[in-house]
Amino acid sequence: MNVIQPLLDLQAVDGFIRELEMEEREIPRRKAKENARLAGVNAALEIAKNQLAAMQKRIRDEEAEAGELRTKAQTVRTGMPGIKSNKEYEQTAIQLETLDREAEAAENRALALMKDEIPTLEKQVQEAEAKVVAESGGVSGYVDELDERLKDVKANLAEQRAERVEKANAVKAIDPAFLLYYERVSTKRWPVVVPLTNDGVCDGCHMKQPPFVAQLVQHNAKAASEGKSQQRAACTMCGRLLYTDL
Ligand SMILES: [Zn+2]
Repeated sequence: MNVIQPLLDLQAVDGFIRELEMEEREIPRRKAKENARLAGVNAALEIAKNQLAAMQKRIRDEEAEAGELRTKAQTVRTGMPGIKSNKEYEQTAIQLETLDREAEAAENRALALMKDEIPTLEKQVQEAEAKVVAESGGVSGYVDELDERLKDVKANLAEQRAERVEKANAVKAIDPAFLLYYERVSTKRWPVVVPLTNDGVCDGCHMKQPPFVAQLVQHNAKAASEGKSQQRAACTMCGRLLYTDL
């Protein structure tokens, strides 16, 4: 009985399982990366909003200061008709002038901030908002796709693992030692069962094999075709199982 063919069948299923397992590990990583990207975009919007709010507060503070100064000036102005001495009048006039000047300065600062800073900050917020809208749609769609794919992968894995049991049993039925050897090597090398090339080279590690290995491989091919049992022909370098078709 040919043991190589059932081993190759098992290896094909195992190869598929390996790919699926890799995808099963990779999908949550990709999902986390997408979510982190979205979190970054949201954080950028938060920062832009905070910067705008801080600037708006600065402007309100300047306006409030101007308002206080104007009120103070108004109070002083109201009291002016009652002033008796010339000196006091002059002092009050200077005080008024100062209050008006300071109020105007605060108003000008508020206007300058509104003109120079606010449009830029508002634009930043709008851009950040647009990015959030664009990204969240894309990310949530992509994350949904990843979730779907993960479900498929898991279902597929379950099927393949069931299939694997059958394939492993088929090898075991012919020669349990081959299965054990295959399982052991597969933890370190992949694929495990490889052809011996026409030049007598292991197709796994590309090492030229000594003549006795080549002879054993030939012997096995003949034995398989005659329905006789085969011996283990392994690469002297990497330990992979070698075979050839007659
Ligand atoms: Zn090898």
